[in-house]
Amino acid sequence: DMKCGEKLEGVNVQVVLRCRPLSEEDEISRTPTVVTCDELKGEVLAIRSIGNKQTERAFVFDKVFGPTSQQVDLFTQSISPLVSDVLEGFHCTIFAYGQTATGKTYTMEGGKMANNGELHSDAGVIQRSAQKCFEELEAKRAKYIMKVSFLEIYNEEITDLLSSKKWEFLDDKSTRRITLMEDGKGGVFVRGMEEDIVYSADEIYKILDNATTRRHSTANLLNKHSSRSHSIFSITIHIKDISREGQEIIKIGKLNLVDLAGSVNILRSGAREGRAREAGEINKSLLTLGRVINALVDESSHVPYRDSKLTRLLRNSLGGKTKACIIATISPSIHCLEETLCTLDYAHRAR
Ligand code: ADP
Ligand code: MG
Repeated sequence: DMKCGEKLEGVNVQVVLRCRPLSEEDEISRTPTVVTCDELKGEVLAIRSIGNKQTERAFVFDKVFGPTSQQVDLFTQSISPLVSDVLEGFHCTIFAYGQTATGKTYTMEGGKMANNGELHSDAGVIQRSAQKCFEELEAKRAKYIMKVSFLEIYNEEITDLLSSKKWEFLDDKSTRRITLMEDGKGGVFVRGMEEDIVYSADEIYKILDNATTRRHSTANLLNKHSSRSHSIFSITIHIKDISREGQEIIKIGKLNLVDLAGSVNILRSGAREGRAREAGEINKSLLTLGRVINALVDESSHVPYRDSKLTRLLRNSLGGKTKACIIATISPSIHCLEETLCTLDYAHRAR
């Protein structure tokens, strides 16, 4: 394990798995479960029964969080160390990956309970990360500036979920649309993106609440929309520090918290909704992300960042001395088995 401030060689990718509990409806209808989680071994078993024959597949992850795991467990064990790295000037990215309704948004943004001053037990990775950043910076009496941005990618188009002023007066989507520009040095920047300077964790909770409420009231088919878009909440911190030589330096840490579009089983969704094409686009961007991560882990000379908006946008934060964590989310229900196996395969390949 890497300690804070130590040199990172290449990208360090950690893959953790979270299995949600059965939903209330599933409990009532006594839906069988086909997944077992061994948190100690970090292993997940998916069990398929055909007739009276059972086949089992086992997957090992860096960490497994079973159906009774709490938000605080996942944060403390898998995310908190990355937040410490961010405060040392690293770029870290956390992805939630999985089928729709398996708990990506619950994990990242938390449940519906409001967070004021103190965090609710349902609070997600975003709120907990924000709280930890402020707590540690205050404890160190650091001088810093913290900024947040919140973007959404839908159909390969980027919109700004923070541009509040524009949202209120204009219902013109084009004002929120932003473009990715190459900076000519292999990097990218986002033209027209709003960044809010924040002075407390509470401000971050409010920004998040406002943005999600706005998103919900404007998107007419909320669930479909949010399950087909990627959202990226970023916290950038400029921290004043003194180098070993006694000179004043600025460390720039960045934390990207990415709630990915729901992975889609093309055959099933295509047959049911005639949406194979859209599903194909979503899968393409998820596949590109997988390829980028694999290329980085293998230290391959070609990393296909350019193949999707998401990977272009995150280019500065993936590669080089960075860390990433993929939280793969699954449901234990028998009805989700096929998608669960796809998620387990994808997440496992990313290691
Ligand atoms: P996704 O973002 O993957 O589509 P959601 O996060 O919206 O899924 O989860 C769907 C529903 O299930 C929400 O009502 C959410 O609160 C609930 N849920 C998901 N994961 C958990 C969990 N680990 N514990 C309790 N409730 C959960
Ligand atoms: Mg969601």
